[in-house]
Parts: sequence; structure tokens; C-alpha cells
Amino acid sequence: MSCPNPIDAALLADYWLAALPKPQEDQIEEHLFACAECAARLEEVAALANALRNLARQGSLTMIVSDAFLQRAAQEGLRVRQYSPPAGGSVECTVTAEDDLLIGRLSADLTAARRIDLSLCDAQGVERARLADIPFNPATPGVALEQSITYAKAAPSETMVARLLSFDESGREHLLGEYTFNHTRTLPGPAAW
Ligand SMILES: [Zn+2]
Repeated sequence: MSCPNPIDAALLADYWLAALPKPQEDQIEEHLFACAECAARLEEVAALANALRNLARQGSLTMIVSDAFLQRAAQEGLRVRQYSPPAGGSVECTVTAEDDLLIGRLSADLTAARRIDLSLCDAQGVERARLADIPFNPATPGVALEQSITYAKAAPSETMVARLLSFDESGREHLLGEYTFNHTRTLPGPAAW
């Protein structure tokens, strides 16, 4: 017996992370109750989601996170340090020994975007890393970037420029917003590199 209407893996992950609105959650719960196939898929998704969540909670990944994730992290007592530079502007930032998560809020109009890349550049504008095809919600006014706190705690004072890029039908890049983080090392001791 195969399910005629399997629940999307991304929905299953959101369901597992309790990130869905109540009516949608109820609807999925009802389906899972009746469908052994989707219930088995939920277990696989849950194992993956838990592994990812643990990595994200340790703060050692650079990744895009949802508001639901950040709310839950705060509820669990994690110290979340957030910076919100204006699009086209900059912010002075740092990290302390007590911080668990380091978040940069990148505000942009996402309503027309179909695919978004996040390009992380140095002070000279040279791309050092790129997160391709990041998850985003067109209805929200931007994305939240979790910067690796393991990296930030070891880092010297330095400037990072984050660029949100969208793509048109011909695949050409368009700049949605550019955000400059002027990081000052405030932890005692020399940087790790
Ligand atoms: Zn099913």
C-alpha cells in the first residue's frame, strides 16, 4: 500500500520541530495517525531534524534559521545575540563568552524572489563562502543568519559583508541587500589566528 497523498518532507520536518500553525499541525497529525507509510517517513525526518537542530543549537554552523527556531532557543535558556544592520548599512558587533548563538538579521523585500543565495564576503568584497538556494519565507521581511559562534569567539576583529542575491528568469544575479558587520574582538586573549 502506498500513500496517495504523501506529506512533503519539509512539512514533516516543520511538524516535528513544532513550527507549524495549529490547524496545519492537526491536519498532519490526523494523516499520520491513519498512514503508516508517512509515519515511518516522519521517523526518518525526525532523526535528521534532530541532528541538524543539535548542530544549530551548539552554534557551530553558519546557516539560515527560522524565527520558530530562535524562539525555542530562547525558551530553552540559550543566550541569543542579534544584530540588525540596515540594508546597505553596517553594524558594530562583537561576541562574549556567555553568548550561545550569534544572529544577523538581514532585512529585505523577499516577495518577488524565487531563489536566494547568501554570499559572505571579506572587507574587500571578495566572496569567501556562499550559501546557495537558502530557505526563506516570502511573507517575512528578511532572513536570520546564524553565524558560527565557534568561529566568532576565536576570530580577530574583522569585517564581514553579507549579500543577499536573487535570480531572475535568465539566471542573472540581483542584489537584494548588502549588510556590513564590523566585528570587534572583546574576548580576552589573542585571536586563534
Ligand atoms: Zn501518507
